[in-house]
Amino acid sequence: MAKAIRPMIRQLCRNGTTVSMRIRGLLNAASVRIAPSSMVNGIPVVVLDSVVSVSEVTQKLATAFETLAAFDQRRYRIIRAHVKRVLVWPGHYDASDGLGGVLLSAERLRDAMLADTVGTLVHEATHLRIANFGVSYRSNRRERIERLCVDEQVLSLIQCGLVDLAVGDRLRESLHKSWWTAEAQADDRAELRRRLAAILLPWISKR
Ligand SMILES: [Zn+2]
Repeated sequence: MAKAIRPMIRQLCRNGTTVSMRIRGLLNAASVRIAPSSMVNGIPVVVLDSVVSVSEVTQKLATAFETLAAFDQRRYRIIRAHVKRVLVWPGHYDASDGLGGVLLSAERLRDAMLADTVGTLVHEATHLRIANFGVSYRSNRRERIERLCVDEQVLSLIQCGLVDLAVGDRLRESLHKSWWTAEAQADDRAELRRRLAAILLPWISKR
């Protein structure tokens, strides 16, 4: 893993203008070449951040998949069809790369309840499904795409019995806040650079 990823991270850390899309794209591309930490329901999982253990990640994902398979078969099949790998990374948010990769924030996953994990998997798989239809994540489509992903996320939680209709409505409302705006993304980039510097630079310098 180190050989594949270290030169890219060094390059990224030298470049103060690095954008988060590029960072997560490179990390995720590198994860294709890394031996998976575990396989969950046939999906390779790579854990890049030790704030959460491999066994904890495996257990949480397995429980989420079991729940979906039991109560929401349609969305479970969508996840199985579109998610090709999961990367548990040091970022502070969850994302997908449009090529079958889902990035889950290590600390968010560590603290996640079952509903959080199920909802995130459905949300990111919906992004991948939309990307596989050839629809790109352009700024003028972001709001529509995010709302669609949030709707699928909440409907799945209701379908799985993890929230009731009233909680689902409140959740949908709170998740429809605009994190996809340019300002929100600039904040994300700043936070990501701070985290990469704090987490990855000491890790590199030890090797
Ligand atoms: Zn989204």
